[in-house]
Amino acid sequence: MLKDIFMGLSQNQFLNSTAKKYGLKLGAQSVVAGTNIPEVIKSIKELNAHGISCTVDNLGEFVFKEEEATAAKEQILKVIEAIQENKVDAHISLKPTQVGLDIDYQFCLNNVREIVDRAHRYDIFVNIDMEDFKHLEPTFNLLDDLSLEYTNVGTVIQSYFHKAQEYLERYKNFRIRLVKGAYKESEEIAYQDKSDIDENFIKITEWHLLNGKFTSIATHDHRIINHIKEFVKKHDIPNDKFEFQMLYGFRKEMQLQLASEGYNFCTYVPFGNDWYGYFMRRLAERPQNLNLVAKQVFNK
Ligand code: FAD
Repeated sequence: MLKDIFMGLSQNQFLNSTAKKYGLKLGAQSVVAGTNIPEVIKSIKELNAHGISCTVDNLGEFVFKEEEATAAKEQILKVIEAIQENKVDAHISLKPTQVGLDIDYQFCLNNVREIVDRAHRYDIFVNIDMEDFKHLEPTFNLLDDLSLEYTNVGTVIQSYFHKAQEYLERYKNFRIRLVKGAYKESEEIAYQDKSDIDENFIKITEWHLLNGKFTSIATHDHRIINHIKEFVKKHDIPNDKFEFQMLYGFRKEMQLQLASEGYNFCTYVPFGNDWYGYFMRRLAERPQNLNLVAKQVFNK
């Protein structure tokens, strides 16, 4: 019920555009690492000091105009330059719709190619985040087209899809982030029960650890993390074949703990004015995250 309410709010374009004008509010500052590049670089440096690498997401939703997509691309190019100049341990995560996938495929491909090309110059990886099912095949097409020229690019597979294993086998030679999936999808294409989604997550993660190039295990679920720790030990999977990932601001102690145990750890660091949709999706996933809001409101 609450999940549906927050998911609905995340898709409200009016609230999205209104929120942009008011800076980080409602507790979003706990999970969004600032609104500009100097702020996000500062956050990355703090995480790097704990041995944690970062993947940076310049937040953006509902981009239907070429000038907005071009502005987003320019901002991501600036982030790449800032990563290089500041010599921080970070790479890029981007959403294809933010750089034009809802406008025109070729236009979007050109934008992503420019980003991947600039990142390639500095040996920086670019992850193409996965959005809802409508964008899944076009996102795979971007990866297919870009991988003809570049190796510093990968994507995300969502375990809620019935066909997750099939997608994974298609992209086993890529660096892949595995997630459960953050969007509302129909039962024809996606598991609805948490236990099925979790079971599939473990299944595809184990498969990719044994057969894939590099696995980013993106979950806050300690049960799954503990299971994977045992699995890699049992199968002698070296640390340089995988990493754990979590979102900025969530389970901070566990993030530090995993890094201190010697696992590669990468924090997903979102920043920018367009925080509203991202924040609402996090509340939809876990209404307990409302605690973050309460803390911000009452700790004034
Ligand atoms: P859940 O399934 O929500 O929770 C499982 C259990 O973990 C809970 O019952 C609780 O015990 C524990 N737990 C979870 N969160 C917390 C917390 N904050 N504090 C304490 N305990 C907690 N989705 C996409 O669709 N596309 C993407 O490209 C994408 N990229 C992502 C990148 C990263 C780095 C991460 C971490 C997630 C990403 N997601 C993405 C979101 C993902 O699909 C899930 O919606 C999200 O991670 C919630 O699932 P979970 O496995 O983390 O935990």
